Amino acid sequence: MRKVHELRWNPLLGCWIIVAGHRARRPWRPEEKKRICPFCPGAPETKDEGEWDVLVLPNKYPALSLDAEEPNMKDEFYRHGRAVGVCEVVVETPIHEGDLCDLSLDHMKKVIDAYTDEYEKLGKLREVKYVVIFRNKGKEIGVSLTHPHSQIYALPFIPPRIAVELKNFRRFMEEKGSCLLCTIIEKERRENKRLIYENDGFVCLLPFFAMWPYEVHVYPKRHVTSLSELSNEERLQLADALRIITGTYNNLFDRDMPYIMVIHQRPTDGEEYPYYHMHIEFYPPYREKDKLKYAAGIEWGTWTFTYDGVPEEKAKELRMACLKFLSKVDKHLGRCVS
Ligand code: ZN
Ligand code: ZN
Ligand code: FE
Repeated sequence: MRKVHELRWNPLLGCWIIVAGHRARRPWRPEEKKRICPFCPGAPETKDEGEWDVLVLPNKYPALSLDAEEPNMKDEFYRHGRAVGVCEVVVETPIHEGDLCDLSLDHMKKVIDAYTDEYEKLGKLREVKYVVIFRNKGKEIGVSLTHPHSQIYALPFIPPRIAVELKNFRRFMEEKGSCLLCTIIEKERRENKRLIYENDGFVCLLPFFAMWPYEVHVYPKRHVTSLSELSNEERLQLADALRIITGTYNNLFDRDMPYIMVIHQRPTDGEEYPYYHMHIEFYPPYREKDKLKYAAGIEWGTWTFTYDGVPEEKAKELRMACLKFLSKVDKHLGRCVS
């Protein structure tokens, strides 16, 4: 295989594609083939780390790297770019199984602290314009390693979905003189139709405009643009919110629920984004216990989502699952809003 590692510009959509030919060779679920899990204590990747609770490792098959070469092919029409950036893995626990809700609250707080440290460290790099922290869970999402972990991509550009949010937050601020998300939080708390859970620092809800059947957003109540602005106490409250939402998901259908979790923060390109309000979004792909919702023709082909169901009713289902989880969990800081 020819070694291709570069950014390619899609002129139809106006966005970058990361081409990483070497990533096709990465192992699929090595532990299922009785090979050792690379994230368990004692594996070659982790054995030099001593005692650890949360471990940040370089991604062994990075889509981006700081020493990425200049693309070797010149083209007078198509745009290329260097695939410069950093890809890391956050191993959330030495224990091979489980979800965020299975970590203790204090342990989950250490995961949030690691996210915050990496966001700051990577965001300072001259090449990095945006730091994405995300968590893929479940084979339905294509997770190649089952050991609990999240990922960080430090990108040399602002990704398109974030660019759209920034544009809309800025426009709202210019037109109404207030923050879009602060406005939504106030409205949702007043109307209480789609709230799932809240603690002193965060509110968790199914958005009015959800695209996935059980999509949940986690919003900090205070207007902050990134994890760096959260106080120590707020980081603990965020840890609580993420534990409760993942526990809620696993109690919804009494099955281990796959999901995508993404942290949306301000870019790190040196510009100011005072109008942006950071948040976390969860997209689980199930619409019923054993029925997947696909981003298919209308969704993926046109970015128009159909919502199978009524968001307010799905929010009610999530509240029931949340109550169920709260009755079992060792510790929680907030309340299910019902
Ligand atoms: Zn493991
Ligand atoms: Zn705000
Ligand atoms: Fe967002």
